Amino acid sequence: MPKHQYAMVMDLNKCIGCHTCTVACKKQWTDGDGQGYMYWNNVETQPGMGYPKDWHKLGGGFDEQRHLRPSPLPPQEDYGAALEYDYGQRLFKGGKKPVMPHEAPRYLSNWDEDMGGPDNENPYYFYLPRICNHCTHPACLEACPRKAIYKREEDGIVVLDQNRCRGYRHCIQACPYKKLYYNAVTRASEKCIFCYARLERGTPNACAAQCPGRIRFVGILDDPESPVHQLVTRYKVALPLLPDKGTHPNVFYVPPFSPPKTGRPNQSVTKDPRFPLAYLTYLFGPKVGETLAFLEGELRTAQAGGTSEVLQLLIGRDAEVRYRLRPQEVAAAAPAEVRQRVGAVGGGPEMQPPGAGKAAAAQVGGKA
Ligand code: SF4
Ligand code: SF4
Repeated sequence: MPKHQYAMVMDLNKCIGCHTCTVACKKQWTDGDGQGYMYWNNVETQPGMGYPKDWHKLGGGFDEQRHLRPSPLPPQEDYGAALEYDYGQRLFKGGKKPVMPHEAPRYLSNWDEDMGGPDNENPYYFYLPRICNHCTHPACLEACPRKAIYKREEDGIVVLDQNRCRGYRHCIQACPYKKLYYNAVTRASEKCIFCYARLERGTPNACAAQCPGRIRFVGILDDPESPVHQLVTRYKVALPLLPDKGTHPNVFYVPPFSPPKTGRPNQSVTKDPRFPLAYLTYLFGPKVGETLAFLEGELRTAQAGGTSEVLQLLIGRDAEVRYRLRPQEVAAAAPAEVRQRVGAVGGGPEMQPPGAGKAAAAQVGGKA
């Protein structure tokens, strides 16, 4: 078990589906060769197919006996291709044609954006941003025959040593969230590194720092003062995604607080929800009903002029409220050889330039 565990909470009630997080992550880590199609952070509309297509129906994770569940490897077309656009013909050559992608897209990470539920009488959807969950029991780690994937002892972040990876892709099959990506140029897999190089410098993850909805809270789960501890452990309003997959995610979601059904204002969201409770239970597990009931009670308290500590926390107006990073404590918990490699305790490594995700993942804090 790691000495500390970094975690993230995302309040789905505040996500506006703007994809700023996706762009921030892409610019920071995945604009290199072979990375065009990959989004370590993606935002999908639910209900929907997601990215890669129908990832949540593919299996993976662990069964009740803690054996890896089988899962197919998603084909490349279920992720979509990196599209290229000839802006030059329009901007510099005076071409009149609209700027179109070099090929007609057949699938993309936000292919069914804003389409939502099938019920025309009661339309509903919400946005679900996703990163690697840095699971307590990572199926990807268990499946790797090369031991290229490991959990960092100091902060529980799951990383992939690309010098050890041989591109077998067992990790991608095993991950029930399909949050690893194969790079056909380097012939190695890649994944979200929870921006550990930023956290080591006391800077929040790029997706969190850029989020205009301020939906993301970051901290150490075992730190009682951190917002993630408060939301997950104290108030119990943040739940893991697909908990039945058995990997114990460390990314948690405040479930979407259902609006009233069309034409029925002021109804209780638990008694007459627009988002079917069965669907929310499928995504966030059996505790979602009581979580929503608790949140509704807090909302009523606030509407009646009272104070709700948890709603104040969820507003997350200031960065100091949303993030509690502890680079010194985390660095002190790192193995001696890692401390030596990253330099002075708490100093952290220099940030890698965009596109150097591979270098950062392999070199900083990696196993010898
Ligand atoms: S979400 Fe997938 S890739 Fe990330 S740690 Fe869990 S099993 Fe591994
Ligand atoms: S940047 Fe924030 S609000 Fe925008 S899609 Fe991402 S998580 Fe949602």
